[in-house]
Amino acid sequence: MFDVLGPAVIESSPWRARPNCSPLMTPSHRKRICLLGATGSIGESTLQVVADFPDRFEIVGLSAHTSAATLARLADELKPAAVCLSGSETPPGEAGGSASAWFSGEEGLAKLVEACEPDIVVVAIVGAAGLTPTLRALELGLPVALANKEVLVTAGALVMDLARRRGVQILPIDSEHNAIFQCLAGHADDPVRRVILTASGGPFRGRTRAELAGVTVAEALDHPTWQMGPKITIDSATLMNKGFEVIEGHHLFGLDVDRFEVVIHPESAVHSMVEFVDGSILAHLGVTNMYLPIAHVLAYPERLENSRFDALDFTRVASLTFEDYDREVFPCLGYAYEAARRGGTWPAALNAANEIAVERFLAGEIQFSGIPELIDAVLQAHDGVAHPGLDEIRRADAEAREKARENARSLGLSRK
Ligand code: NDP
Ligand code: MG
Repeated sequence: MFDVLGPAVIESSPWRARPNCSPLMTPSHRKRICLLGATGSIGESTLQVVADFPDRFEIVGLSAHTSAATLARLADELKPAAVCLSGSETPPGEAGGSASAWFSGEEGLAKLVEACEPDIVVVAIVGAAGLTPTLRALELGLPVALANKEVLVTAGALVMDLARRRGVQILPIDSEHNAIFQCLAGHADDPVRRVILTASGGPFRGRTRAELAGVTVAEALDHPTWQMGPKITIDSATLMNKGFEVIEGHHLFGLDVDRFEVVIHPESAVHSMVEFVDGSILAHLGVTNMYLPIAHVLAYPERLENSRFDALDFTRVASLTFEDYDREVFPCLGYAYEAARRGGTWPAALNAANEIAVERFLAGEIQFSGIPELIDAVLQAHDGVAHPGLDEIRRADAEAREKARENARSLGLSRK
């Protein structure tokens, strides 16, 4: 594996300084939501929250990538001001439904964010494709409810710096970060010793390296506790998802990467924990459904009455167990720590290589064990830039994708 350099540090963040700072909402004003990635798993849960609280929220913008028919149905139903079909270069036509403005292509996402005049932008797009519209929302001074972790992995320093300069919040939807955000509320000035990120362990917890080599796509998609889109489900099976979450937390909360520890917690009831320097630990618990963190960030700083889910029944959970993860079997988590310590363009290259590796695994072109192999090869070849601007990040992303595609071709050929 590529070797260790010094730590990546940012120990201050608008989060910790102003945990209770409020994005707008008065009872007389329905919060206007622009939902990017409306047709995915997080998109669907967001629409559920909006449907449950019609007096509080309205959808004013929607995007899908290729699911044109679903986008058209949603547009007819919800009558947003604008829609975007980002995977098409031609206007969505019928997919525009009854929206008054419609856009297409990747650049259409940033136009959508501006045109629909939202109060908040939910970024539920998968992958680094979420970066441009997130930056646009922040430039416009709009708070962002962020599910997409690849945005912070790819360009966390730039994104957080822009949010700070524009004085807007990034509200975390990812359940662990939403949990940490809640644990830190009211503790802005308390020194944190460590953050403990919990991981279910995915479908392959307890397997050996040899047992993992030939697992099928269907087995890797069979997550034990969370229902999610295919890409993050594979990331959970390799534990790359947890590595991304370390980087995401580092940027969101302004804490050094090495303050984040990962522990396997198969019941997924504790969503994460924060330990302060005096040894006190605050944990966040709840049912395993993304509806909860989404409702939390949309209503923030208020709380909505939850009548959709039964309370967490501790007698049914029976026990909460915690265990270490196997570093040999799941090398992706180590790669993420290492890329984060190096900083600069390394995490962008890590993310890009992972996006291609997962895509090729899902397409049946490489084996499960080929995912870390391919990422390692790309990072070994990466010529990192220490303090990159956006152009350098985009270049690192493109080069890592190209290198990953080449490697995937030779890995695929070596299987035949
Ligand atoms: P899904 O695959 O279910 O949905 C992805 C959404 O993004 C779809 O609306 C899809 O449109 C759209 N999309 C896909 N590719 C592109 C692209 N290149 N450009 C623009 N839009 C695109 O993913 P999830 O909802 O599971 O995850 C979304 C994000 O949230 C990910 O970053 C994930 O890591 C994060 N997250 C997800 C959690 C979950 O429980 N699902 C939990 C925590 C974080 P179309 O349908 O047309 O393809
Ligand atoms: Mg998570």
